[in-house]
Amino acid sequence: MPTAIERFVRGSDLAMLVDGNPVHAVSGQTFESLNPATGALLARLPAADAADVDLAVRSARRAFDEGPWSSMKPYDRQRIMLRFADLVEARHEDLAVLDTLDMGAPIQRMRANLRRSVGMARFYAGLTTALRGETIANSIPGNFQTHTTREPVGVVGAIVPWNNPHIAFIWKVGAALAAGCTVVIKPAEEASLSALWLGEMLLEAGLPDGVVNVVTGFGETAGAALTVHPGVDKIAFTGSTATGQAIVRAAAGTLKRVTLELGGKSPNIVFNDADLDLAVPGAAMAAFTNSGQVCSAGTRLFVERGVYDDFVSAMTAYAQSLSVGNGLDEGTQLGPLVSQTQLERVTDYFEVGRQEGAAVHYGGARLTSGDYANGYFVPPTIFTQVDNEMRVAREEIFGPVVSVMAFDDHDAVLRQANASPFGLGGGVWTNDLSKATRTVDALRTGTVWVNCYGQMDPAVPFGGYRMSGYGREGGVQHIDEFLETKSVWIQTR
Ligand code: ADP
Repeated sequence: MPTAIERFVRGSDLAMLVDGNPVHAVSGQTFESLNPATGALLARLPAADAADVDLAVRSARRAFDEGPWSSMKPYDRQRIMLRFADLVEARHEDLAVLDTLDMGAPIQRMRANLRRSVGMARFYAGLTTALRGETIANSIPGNFQTHTTREPVGVVGAIVPWNNPHIAFIWKVGAALAAGCTVVIKPAEEASLSALWLGEMLLEAGLPDGVVNVVTGFGETAGAALTVHPGVDKIAFTGSTATGQAIVRAAAGTLKRVTLELGGKSPNIVFNDADLDLAVPGAAMAAFTNSGQVCSAGTRLFVERGVYDDFVSAMTAYAQSLSVGNGLDEGTQLGPLVSQTQLERVTDYFEVGRQEGAAVHYGGARLTSGDYANGYFVPPTIFTQVDNEMRVAREEIFGPVVSVMAFDDHDAVLRQANASPFGLGGGVWTNDLSKATRTVDALRTGTVWVNCYGQMDPAVPFGGYRMSGYGREGGVQHIDEFLETKSVWIQTR
């Protein structure tokens, strides 16, 4: 165990971070954070409620309204953010272990995130000095000059999920800080540990007190309190579509700006001419990576009839070869699900699929033998004989479960691919450029991967169409989500 993270995982009471100070909940309430691979207690965390959120928002408000963060020159903000990126880079191995302990994902996957998380911190640091408005020609008689300035939206309430904890933190906080905002972030109750450490690292990097506050607790209490607080100007949320809808309703009272990165049921289409050596593992991991706890997972797999049988048997062999286990074991490719709740949800869908008439081709039952006994383990699961109308093909399962459907007609498969309320990701596997571009154009999704799946980069926007949310994260335009535009009229003689 790296000594740097021992204090987070020895079963003791941890504090959250408000106004630069470690604090406990006003109510004194706590909740437990468990290791999903073993069921062991990692820590007790403050269960914040409206009173704690109020203190955190006041702190962020003060830090925004009185400075110095919001009045600091971009150069100075950038230096702090670059120092933070250096700290994340230096401690990435420990951060990876901490997230693995907290939510179960394989350490290999967490390590592979290094370029993305550090790159993201540097990307947003870069944007700090790239803010600009426009000079606009107007048609008003006389001497009027017009220009726009971009100003930070204010206090941001960031609410993030547990499936990629330290990346989720840097993604939200990085963009908000680059814009000059201050933040109250509520990590998910299932995986809050790295957020507490990253909050400390920001202070160590020189971020003034109160600019980023980390509040731990449950969604219905701490999260909900953020969404209705009049001192919060914007909510940046990543999570389930149902919670996204609740947040929009809650935010309506104060007309907060809201961006939402929500769920998906992403289509992945394999044509007869695809390179199957690439497509089989690619499509399998599109659905199974992170044990399927990925919002853009390619969970509706459409395979053209000519290769269907070969494809399904090759994918089954691939699924069989995947090593499921404790994320800390170097060889593990799929870790446990994050929690008992998530385990129940996924295993319920195994039953739902069976009852609807889908065939469990592989997997489909909780793993309980030996080392699996105390963790939330399920195998990669392949449903065949699926109809696009079935619940297992319509609803987000958030487990390593793929529904495979054969298709004959190219137009029909594109219609089916779009026959979903979601629109987050999509994939196409073909060696025919025309088929690839036709599919890219047809899919109503925020990202389309061609002959690959799931790649993400700080500079490339990510987000959803339709019920997968609104707004884009990543890319230069991400910062726009945290800026207001002010138009300035100047009359000259
Ligand atoms: P999941 O089902 O994957 O856990 P959620 O959408 O429930 O996804 O959770 C994502 C984040 O949203 C978590 O930090 C959670 O605490 C928070 N959350 C859940 N319910 C609410 C709510 N009503 N208001 C604000 N935040 C919430």
